Amino acid sequence: MATTSEDCIFCRIIQRQMPAKIIYEDDTTLAFEDIHPQAPVHLLVVPRKHLASLTETGAEEDALIVHLCAVSAKCARERGRDPGGCRTVSNYGERAGQTFFHLNVH
Ligand code: AMP
Ligand code: ZN
Repeated sequence: MATTSEDCIFCRIIQRQMPAKIIYEDDTTLAFEDIHPQAPVHLLVVPRKHLASLTETGAEEDALIVHLCAVSAKCARERGRDPGGCRTVSNYGERAGQTFFHLNVH
């Protein structure tokens, strides 16, 4: 699996070649605001490594997937405005509504 993809918008955001409102980053992961928010707070959590979707990962990505969920929870705690709850979603594939093929957690 490629580490980056030149025609991937999220890889370009990760490499700072495209602007985004980045709110969290670490060695493996970035979180930024969704450009078309579907909720008062709508963030995307993405791995730095270019992986097409959750179904395109292998056992070597298990820790990374857990980390994406942990970052989602951290962002929800720090940025969530509704104490009533929030939702975490990752679309796998076109028929599930995935439109950007760099693994992302909403
Ligand atoms: P998905 O369809 O599940 O892959 O989700 C992709 C998400 O990326 C959508 O909610 C888009 O609004 C969002 N998006 C697309 N381009 C950008 C961008 N340049 N900056 C931030 N979010 C984006
Ligand atoms: Zn990518």
